[in-house]
Amino acid sequence: MLTLEELTSIPDGLLTIERTTDLHTVLKQPTLLHLEGEIKQPLFISVLLHANEDTGFFAIQSLLKRYQDKPLPRSLSIFFGNIAAAKEGLRRLDGQPDYNRVWPGTDHPECDETRLMQKVVDSIAKRSPFASIDIHNNTGKNPHYGCINNVKETSLYLASLFSHIVVYFETPRGVQSMAMSKLCPAITIECGKPHLAQGVEHASDFIETVLHLDTLKPHVNNPPKVDIFHTVARVTIPDSISFAFAGNINDNADNKVDTQQLKQEYDVLFSENIDQINFSKLPKDTVLATVKKGIEQPLKAWDDKEKDVTNDYFSLATSEQGRRQLKLTRSLMPAMLTLDKKIVRQDCLCYLMEEYKI
Ligand SMILES: [Zn+2]
Repeated sequence: MLTLEELTSIPDGLLTIERTTDLHTVLKQPTLLHLEGEIKQPLFISVLLHANEDTGFFAIQSLLKRYQDKPLPRSLSIFFGNIAAAKEGLRRLDGQPDYNRVWPGTDHPECDETRLMQKVVDSIAKRSPFASIDIHNNTGKNPHYGCINNVKETSLYLASLFSHIVVYFETPRGVQSMAMSKLCPAITIECGKPHLAQGVEHASDFIETVLHLDTLKPHVNNPPKVDIFHTVARVTIPDSISFAFAGNINDNADNKVDTQQLKQEYDVLFSENIDQINFSKLPKDTVLATVKKGIEQPLKAWDDKEKDVTNDYFSLATSEQGRRQLKLTRSLMPAMLTLDKKIVRQDCLCYLMEEYKI
């Protein structure tokens, strides 16, 4: 049975855990920890909604160690999410819903996890939060960036303190930041790949900065300097399509036996370093993959309303060398392209973004 544990002091052992796979020895259930600071209105942080993304946990641990012998500048409420999946080192367990798709506003049918997140929101709402930050990692090569679900000045300002790159998205629904944005400025931060000291340091310094702020209103003469990108589509690979990451689609790798063999074996072949193009502006006609004969829709693109918009973004063409290639039909910027096949199957291949002007 999934219950919410609420604590008001740091449990023994939390600050010395070295791996999130050991967290279950300290926290038995999803846990909300409320710590009092000098300013009473709390900052809300959530970590381990995706349980293999450990940067948030270690950022909190590092911050709490810094304040072991002095009061926090502001109260802090921390939600430690998917403890059961953290034990296994997985994003989520088979049979569990995604812990960042079941917050109030979700399309997911009511279940233990939707009730859990409702309880978290109710508990935080009572404390009238100052701001909310949900901390994540991703698997491909991506810069650190903040995500917002509305373009209010306060959310933008909060995101700008983490990175000048800001992604504005309205789907998927049921994410933490969308639920919390009904209560306070709320953002998600993406801290690159997990397990890296640089990500932990950046996230914990950012939290500390926010704990010291009196207001989230930027100074009139100093508006936030950010580049905003709006997600226009989510790209998935149908279950019936096989795929691999190998070779470089832009070199003439046809003479390489292994690449040739892979082309026979897989329906779609992406280059082995396709995640290098995350957050790059790609011109129209950029080749994204080679595609086996007979495969007509190797990828699917979905808009905010889950409408199939594949043909708006991708087309198939045959190159002069006779290779079938998947091309972009317009200039776009991809994000979160990953080489992790499990993530592609569980979540998506990537998001497509366009520049957004306020
Ligand atoms: Zn995540």
